Amino acid sequence: MRAEIIAVGSELLTPYRLDTNSLFLTSALNELGIRVVHKVVVGDSPDDMRSSFQHAMERAEVIVSSGGLGPTDDDRTRQTVSELLGRKLHTDEAVLRHIKERFQRFRPGRVMPEINARQALVPEGATVLPNPSGTAPGLWLESNGHVVILLPGVPNELRGLFETLVKPRLARIGGRLRLYTRDLRITGLPESEVETRVSPLYALYPDIETTILASPPGIQLHPSVWSDDPAKAEKLLDEIVDRMALALGESLYSMHGESLEEVLARILTENRATIAVAESCTGGLLAERLTNVAGSSVYFLGGVVCYSNELKSQLVNVPPGIIEAKGAVSPEVALALADGIRRVTGARLGIGVTGIAGPGGGTPEKPVGLVYIGIADEHGPRQKEFRFLGDRDRIRLFASQAALDMARRYFLAPTARS
Ligand code: AMP
Ligand code: MG
Repeated sequence: MRAEIIAVGSELLTPYRLDTNSLFLTSALNELGIRVVHKVVVGDSPDDMRSSFQHAMERAEVIVSSGGLGPTDDDRTRQTVSELLGRKLHTDEAVLRHIKERFQRFRPGRVMPEINARQALVPEGATVLPNPSGTAPGLWLESNGHVVILLPGVPNELRGLFETLVKPRLARIGGRLRLYTRDLRITGLPESEVETRVSPLYALYPDIETTILASPPGIQLHPSVWSDDPAKAEKLLDEIVDRMALALGESLYSMHGESLEEVLARILTENRATIAVAESCTGGLLAERLTNVAGSSVYFLGGVVCYSNELKSQLVNVPPGIIEAKGAVSPEVALALADGIRRVTGARLGIGVTGIAGPGGGTPEKPVGLVYIGIADEHGPRQKEFRFLGDRDRIRLFASQAALDMARRYFLAPTARS
């Protein structure tokens, strides 16, 4: 079964509103074994809507629309679809009663404005999907082998209606195939390199469709397969994921869609290790990400944002002479920051970040995007140099990612496991 989603609303064609309903609908339809083959966003113009619904009927069996069921003049989905399917509209007394009751319940003493009566109009032969959270009911229409489902645009109303009334109906007519998928997370490799490493596997697993998603600061890899046999599907995915893991090596940090900070949180907790950070160019982003994970107090002791040279020395004991001789953005300062914060806090691991986030401040020797990250344990500090491309936000994000990743990789080394 093939489905098309039509998101109706002129506001969705402006830079200010994004169609998010279709993301929910796609996932919910996939779970029912229904593949989404097209998505459309269309404004409130009846002509445009008519052509969207017409096209959808040519290429999908299930059409789900969101929006345009409100009481105002620009809400025309009901009217347009009725005309397209050649169905007359009539007032449904039960729906009208529901709307009137809602007005009295929420605004005592107020009668329903006349315009809301439009929301009680139902096309001939349609099944009303009562909406407990709003005035506009959903509508289920069947026509020439097509199912057309009209849902209100308000996200929680759409979800509620889908879960309670649409899902059970679609489950009866949906296919036996279900979509099985995995979510692999990679960092430290560009998208093209990930593609080069895993693409030889595609030919070995023709039933598996893999999408690569650049999701800065990392890459996501989603192998998926439609199947009517859960055990077989999972086994097939296990196989390809094992091979992908081999091809990606240590750059693969999660096979279950976790964030890098969640993975690091688990590793630190398992190792009963603590961490502290001294940040310059990331300005607290690293500490922010470390504390994004619930329970971070178990491993995160704290951090300082030491932006000025004076604070680097005062708070983290970076020798002023080093800053003077080598510059604030230097391998030596990264080492001193990492070791300094470790000593000051007593953490097992100290991380130090210094770099040039730009857009100003770059020189030919030390260009924008140059970042040094130090990591220190009781045996002393080491550091790595990075050159990130992009704007200030991107450089800071990638620097925080690289720092988290250095901490993760620290525990992959056999010597650190003691
Ligand atoms: P409507 O049913 O067209 O009156 O839409 C009601 C409200 O729901 C709109 O003002 C939007 O804020 C929201 N909405 C409509 N369509 C979508 C969509 N596709 N994704 C997310 N929100 C939406
Ligand atoms: Mg609308």
